[in-house]
Amino acid sequence: MKNVIILGSTGSIGTQTLEVVEKLKDKFNILGLACGKNIELIKTQIEKFSPKYVCCADEKDTLELSKKYKNIEFLFGENGLLELAKISQNDILVVATSGIVSVKAVLEAIKNKKTIALANKETLVMAGDIVMKEAKKNNVSILPIDSEHSAILQCLNKFDNPFAKNLWITASGGPFRNNTREEMEKFSAKEALNHPRWMMGKKITIDCATLINKGLEVIEAHHLYNFNYENIKVVIHPQSIVHSLVEFNDGSFIAQMGVPSMHIPIQYALTYPERFEGIKTNSFNIFNRNLEFFEPDTEKFPLLKLTIECGKQSGIMPVVLNAANEVAVYKFLNHEINFLDIEKIIFSEIEKTNNIINPTIDEIFEIDKETRKKLI
Ligand code: MG
Repeated sequence: MKNVIILGSTGSIGTQTLEVVEKLKDKFNILGLACGKNIELIKTQIEKFSPKYVCCADEKDTLELSKKYKNIEFLFGENGLLELAKISQNDILVVATSGIVSVKAVLEAIKNKKTIALANKETLVMAGDIVMKEAKKNNVSILPIDSEHSAILQCLNKFDNPFAKNLWITASGGPFRNNTREEMEKFSAKEALNHPRWMMGKKITIDCATLINKGLEVIEAHHLYNFNYENIKVVIHPQSIVHSLVEFNDGSFIAQMGVPSMHIPIQYALTYPERFEGIKTNSFNIFNRNLEFFEPDTEKFPLLKLTIECGKQSGIMPVVLNAANEVAVYKFLNHEINFLDIEKIIFSEIEKTNNIINPTIDEIFEIDKETRKKLI
């Protein structure tokens, strides 16, 4: 029986992680849950999974909850997340929060030698060098909860495979794959949120429409698998059946296929390197499928190229890019700007930035804060 703590339990990945744990309840125990402000849902989760520790964003929510649930230890805020990361009985920390709130908690958990199941992109995009260095030093595994990176790990069969030559990350192409830029300019948040294959949170769905998500995934893959940027490729695969591929030095390509569902990568991260019957067992029908693969159009989606470029430059460039994107996406979702303004905001911010190489974690947070403040 392994103990699991989930940061971000009421979000899209958090709730699906709990579904996986429920299916494998003889293997996993929920030791702790952390949520933001969705108090109704955390109550349901508390009653179903009886965690020992619960953390909410606001202290007043924990005070309210502690009247009802006397046996639970309540924590709050970013400090609460750090406390959860230290709990010695824990085995796996699932990081399913959005944004940068958990970056310090991840570093804390690594220092405490906890296995990390990572769904949060910002951790590696912003602080990949620092996080991976700590993970190596402490001999901690960072297991990806992202369909592409999970697929790559499944194809590699281990983190360090000397025969792998190129990683091929698949992208559905997003909802605007077949539209012109003139058409994209006019699309509303509602149309951009209409992702053809995957059901996800709003922020990441917009990131799929601009293809910045794929660039961020290239940065993540660079850190997770220690591959040069030249050996990480992006391929458009509209059917979302192949979740990524690895090209080996003898010319073989190995692909991982299945239904587009996060349950499979979540379960693989929890049970790695073993596999068990899960929620999506028997759900993929292989008959009458077409698989297409196209080269990405970086002229139509310039953020893909820019993001990979920022990854190569490293330092604070990915931090600025990520912060500018987050502000721009929320403005778009709020109907303040149009779809193509997202890239304009990011390009203009990147052009103005002087890079700092090897920033400390505090510098990273400072740059992130400054960038957001400037743009809001
Ligand atoms: Mg992904």
